[in-house]
Parts: sequence; structure tokens; C-alpha cells
Amino acid sequence: MKAVAIFEHGGTDKLQLVDLPKPEPGADDVIIRVKAVALNRLDVWVREGLPGLKLQMPFTLGSDVAGVIDSVGANVTQYQVGQRVTINPGWWDTTCEFCLRGDHPLCVNFKIFGEHLPGGYAEFMRVPQRNILPIPDEFDFVEICAAPLAFLTAWRALITRGRLQAGDDVVILGAGSGVSTAAIQIAKYAGARVFATSHSDEKLTRARELGADILINYATSEWEKEVFRITNKRGADMVIDAVGEATWLKSLRALRKGGRLVTYGATTGPNPTEEIRLIFWKQLEIIGTTMANQGEFMDVMKLVFQRQFKPVVDVVLPLERAAEAHERLAKNEQFGKIVLTV
Ligand SMILES: [Zn+2]
Repeated sequence: MKAVAIFEHGGTDKLQLVDLPKPEPGADDVIIRVKAVALNRLDVWVREGLPGLKLQMPFTLGSDVAGVIDSVGANVTQYQVGQRVTINPGWWDTTCEFCLRGDHPLCVNFKIFGEHLPGGYAEFMRVPQRNILPIPDEFDFVEICAAPLAFLTAWRALITRGRLQAGDDVVILGAGSGVSTAAIQIAKYAGARVFATSHSDEKLTRARELGADILINYATSEWEKEVFRITNKRGADMVIDAVGEATWLKSLRALRKGGRLVTYGATTGPNPTEEIRLIFWKQLEIIGTTMANQGEFMDVMKLVFQRQFKPVVDVVLPLERAAEAHERLAKNEQFGKIVLTV
């Protein structure tokens, strides 16, 4: 099968168009003929290499896929060949204490398709049947592949981990990322007042179209001071920060007493300047989150399928142009998801 794979970590030149063996389904697996696959920041990290990440090469990236079922294993009776589907991109072992509680992203063996397991930059991809979610007929593959990872991450970050309530002031840093475009819509839907930041007025205008109430250009103003000013020196109830080093201290400052800093990433680096006095004196909560359990995934996708939320697609390119797509993401030029069609 045709695939874009890496044989070693490095720059975008390491993404190679190759011919790989088509995967065979295990008894509980489904083979998907991939039609569209969306990029995540994770794809850039995996291509470049992450500490402790040991991959079997050649490795195919890609966590967010949509396509049709090509074949199924012997135990799969719920799904049929030809059915249009997307997936929960997380993998959990189903047997550890956290899986038994339904806390799948806490699984001691948790993995992500496209990070630890072969992903969707390929004509075919193998997933367990528990990961499968059928797509309603009226949605196309490009639109739907842009949804799962961004929306499930944003849902768990805001609703489950962040305990968002109607009326909360929520700051979403970096309005253009896939998760941010999801988070703006979810926070608005939940009744929050949504602050969005960006270095680009154009991206802020688009954030407003998604529901952001207050737009702050951090290139021309100090965003944490703006948050304080606009909230009459109270501060925000929650900051969603996946930027990391560049924003961490400002996020602590922007929060009200008892506020929550929710982190799901560290795009600008993992080791920020910390200010412990701010944390105890303001009694802040620092909350980590990653991915989502199957219940959260189904909850948020139901709302996508009801068109309460709109997956935001930046550009669509053929799989062969994966390197160009990675360049665009690495330079933060995108607004929403970059999608490759297979
Ligand atoms: Zn487990």
C-alpha cells in the first residue's frame, strides 16, 4: 500500500512516500481504507523525535483519520465492510486498574495511533473495533477527520478536567491551533466568556466567528494584563495553555484566586520559569490533561454530528505533500486543521 513514512527522525525531508505491506486485521480489529487524515502538533514532535519514544521503522504518522471499512476480524460483528467511519485515536489495554474504571487516558499502557502505533498517512490502517465510530452520511471525510483529537482533547481539558461552568472567564491561548478552535466552540457552548489570544488579527477575527468574546493580540499587548484589566483585576477562572515556556508564568498571573491552569501541551518548550509563591498564595490549580476516555470522545462527537461544533479545516493537500503540510504547521501558519487526502 502507498504510505508516507519516516525511517529516522528529523526534518520534513524524512517524510518519504513508500510502499508498505497492507496491515491484516486481528480477530478484534478493523482495517480502514483511509480517505483523509488530519495533522496534529504531535505529528511534528514524532517526526522530530521525542525523549523515550522508540518506534519500529518505517513508521507512519497520523492520528486523525476518516475512511471506509475495508475488512474486519473474525470477532467483529458490529461493523460492515464499506461503512464510513472515524476513530478514537487513543489506544488502551482494557485491563489495567484505570481502564477498569473507564479512565482510558490514564491507562498504564496508553498509546496514541500515529505516535506509538502506526497511523493514517497510508492507504490502510488497523485499529481495534472499540476505536471505531461510524460517520453520518451528510459529513465528508475531510471535515470529520479534522475533529477527533482536537475535540476530545478540548472537551476533556475544559469540561472534565477544568470543570468549566457557565459564566466562567476562560482564556484560550493561541487561537489558531486545532485544539483551540475546538476549545473556543466548546467553552462558548458551555456558557463561558471566551478570551482568545493570537499574534495575528486575522486569526482573531476567525476566532470571533467561532464564538470568542474577547480578542487579545499578544504581539501588540501584554495579554495577561489585558485579562486582568478586562476582568476588573479579578483574573480569569481558567487558562488553557498548551504553549508552555513562553506563556506559563503569564498564565499563572492571569488567573484569579483559586483559578485553574489546564495544560495539554508545551509547544514552545517544557521547562518554564515557575513562580511557586503565585501558586500557593493564589491557591491555583495546575491541571494536566491528555486525550480522552471513550465516553468523552462519544459525548463530544455527538455534538459534532449534531453540528453544534464545526471542525475547522485550514487547507487540504494530497498525502504526497505531507512535508509541505508539516512545514505549514511547524511555522504556525494554520488556522484549524491541515488535512491530507489519501
Ligand atoms: Zn489500561
